[in-house]
Parts: sequence; C-alpha cells; structure tokens
Amino acid sequence: MAYEVGEKSQAWFERATRVIPGGVNSPARSFRAVGGDPPVVMARGMGPYFEDVDGRRYIDYLAAFGPLVLGHANSHVVQAIKDHVDEGTLWGTPAPKEIELAETLVASIEGLEQVRFTSTGTEAVMSAIRLARAFTGRPVVVKFEGAYHGHSDGMLVKAGSGASTVGTQDSLGVPWGVVKDVISLPYNDIAILEETLAKIGDQVACVLAEPIVGNMGIVPPKDGYLQQMKELTHKAGALLIFDEVITAYRFHYGSAASLLGVIPDLYALGKIIGGGLPAGAYGGRYDVMQYVSPLGGMFQAGTLAGNPLSSVAGLATLEVLQREDPYQRMAELAKILEENILEIAQEFDQPITINRVGSAFTVFFQENPVYDYTTAKMSDPVKFARFHRLMLERGIYLAPSRFEAWFVSAAHTRQEIDKTLEACRESFRELSR
Ligand code: PLP
Repeated sequence: MAYEVGEKSQAWFERATRVIPGGVNSPARSFRAVGGDPPVVMARGMGPYFEDVDGRRYIDYLAAFGPLVLGHANSHVVQAIKDHVDEGTLWGTPAPKEIELAETLVASIEGLEQVRFTSTGTEAVMSAIRLARAFTGRPVVVKFEGAYHGHSDGMLVKAGSGASTVGTQDSLGVPWGVVKDVISLPYNDIAILEETLAKIGDQVACVLAEPIVGNMGIVPPKDGYLQQMKELTHKAGALLIFDEVITAYRFHYGSAASLLGVIPDLYALGKIIGGGLPAGAYGGRYDVMQYVSPLGGMFQAGTLAGNPLSSVAGLATLEVLQREDPYQRMAELAKILEENILEIAQEFDQPITINRVGSAFTVFFQENPVYDYTTAKMSDPVKFARFHRLMLERGIYLAPSRFEAWFVSAAHTRQEIDKTLEACRESFRELSR
C-alpha cells in the first residue's frame, strides 16, 4: 500500500515489539486487520486531533475506543486533574471524590441505586456476572454473539471488537469449565432467546447485553427487543444486566437504558465515567447490591478501584456533559457525516450500510442491513482495510477494525466534518478504481 507510517512511529514500534507482545497493550490497537503493522504511534491529543511522533496530525474518530466524549485534553478535565494531583494519587481508604462520583452516577442513571467502582470495564462486567450468580444461585450466563464484554474468561466466548478482529473469539486458555456456563445467542432474535430460556431458564443467572451494541460495529436493538428480553429474563427468574461501558453518557446524560425505556437489574459501566483515566463500575438494584462484600457474601475488590484521579476526571467530564449538553450537536455532526458518506459511496458505486445512533456510527462495507454478528461480518474486510489506509493517508484516524464505531466528540466542529468528507470523497474515488 502507498501509505507508510512515519519513521519515528516505525522506530518506536520496533522497540515496542521487542518488549510488548505484538507491540501493543491491547490487540484492538494493532493494525493487523487493516493492512498490517506498524500502527501509528501517537504523541499527543488536542481536542478532535491526534498528533503522532512524526508530527503528523489526524482528526480523531477513535476517542480512545469511547471514553473521550469531550475530545482530547479538555481544559476543564485537565485542570481538575492538576488541581487534585498534589494531594496524592491513591490512598486505599474511602475518599470524597469517589463518593461524589458514585452520587453523580446514582443521580443520573435510572435504576442505579448503588454502585461499586472497579478499575476497568472488564472487571465491571465480570463482577456484575458474579453478583447475578450469587443472587440467583444459578450458573449460566446468556450473552450475545459479537458483543464484547471485556476479557474475563467467560466473556471470550464468541466475543466482538478486538477479539473478533484478531480471530480469537474462543481464546486459548479459557477452560471448558467456564465456557460450558456461557451461552452466546444471535442478537436481535427474540425467538432464540425465548426458546433458550424455555429450555434452561431455571439455570440462568443473567442475560447480559449491550442495549445498543458497539462492538460488532454500532447495532441498535430492533423495536421491542429489549423490552421482550427483560420480560423473558424475569419470567425465567434471572437478572438482566446491561453492559453500558460504551453507551452510558454517550447518547445523553445518563444510560442508553433510559433512552430506550428498558431499565435493567444491573449495569456495567466504564469508559466515559473515568474521563480518560482507568475506571469501571457496576451497580443497580439495592437488594441485589446488598450481596456485595463486606455486606454480603459476593467477594469483589480492587486496590486501584475508585482511584481519586479517575474519580476527579470522571466528575469533571460529567460536569461538562451536564452543563453544556453537547449531545444534539454531536448527533447532528454525525448525521452530516452519515448522509454525505452514503451519498459519496453511491456516487462511486461502493455498496455500504451505515448504522448510526446519535454521535456514534459504523460504516459497513456491504449493502444489506446489519442487525447481528452474522450480518456485521459481511462487511468486506479487504475494502475496509483499504479505506482505513486511504483515510489515514489523508489525516483521518479511524479505529483499525471494521467492527468498531466512529465516535464524534464534543470537540469536533463543522470544520473537521468537512475535512473528513473531503477525505472520504477521495478515498471512495480511489476504492472505485
Ligand atoms: N464492555 C464493553 C461494551 C466494552 O466496549 C469494553 C471495552 O471495549 C469492555 C466492556 C471492557 O472494558 P475495559 O477495556 O475497560 O476492560
């Protein structure tokens, strides 16, 4: 391919590969699915832009895989971190900022009556599942193909995101003892869920879903699907867990659950609530949360959980989101991208489908509707890889996987959108040659 990452990126990446497997600390950062390594090594982020170690600038639609809803280095968030860092970075005791963040989450997420912090989304989901098993006394987790719920053992059964991209959907090292209690069903298919719960519902601890899937690309639920999911789950005596690690505070100031009118028993949270620093959380119904140690017998812990700097960054991010309410503007910009990309692709005879919810969307390189993992996988990997490179060459940074979203942040303006559309036009023209 014509495009080559800069010399300094290459040199850094060479160093990385000697000491870090594959040179990356998360497989989703690798460029293996889009024409190969090395990936671009970034030096800094500012607003809607990235700058790499060679001094090249990119408009960023990765948003660090979701957390950066305000863009890079938002001044309010940065100042809040600076103001707090002199007090120390970790105490291992209860502290005001984690309590304030917990109060903020409880006040803004419907059905979140109590919350416990973790350091990552992975732990949040893992803990919510353990809690559901503790509460119900049952072993089985029902989840959906192509959704990504972090990298705990059981969640790597038919997972999406980075796991699907590198083809480790059933990771080595996950024992059968774990896998046998995880059932993965096609998303958006209520009949299969009904059938499954009719057969083995009395063994099911929880049904776990992203209410709007973000990890096989953006895939919204069909009308009525989540409501029926909730009814069937409760009929089986199981708990409904929504993994809102991506979706909470992405589409409005609160959970996707309340936008969609279906409130789960438990939530898993992450990404935006840490404002770009490590954070996760799980919580929900008060009676269920009473099972969590030290109140109850479900053990879960974390040296770094509720980290003061993460709490401060999360609080500052949520303050800006509440005060400035950028959601409609973000969605309008994303809509401009969606409509124009569809038009450009048509002009150059390139079949695509776009799924968009608010400020997040995915361009699938195929023309049929995408509503589950099977239809998402029809997106042409070779075309996507070429498109990714062409866009990179033109200064647009997209996630290096056909199963990820483009995230428009509150820092993007019409100017970045117009530049992006110019790059799209040239890239689709190239693709059609
Ligand atoms: N759940 C969802 C929906 C996610 O998208 C992710 C990460 O991408 C996770 C859980 C895991 O979060 P983390 O990477 O913070 O462990």
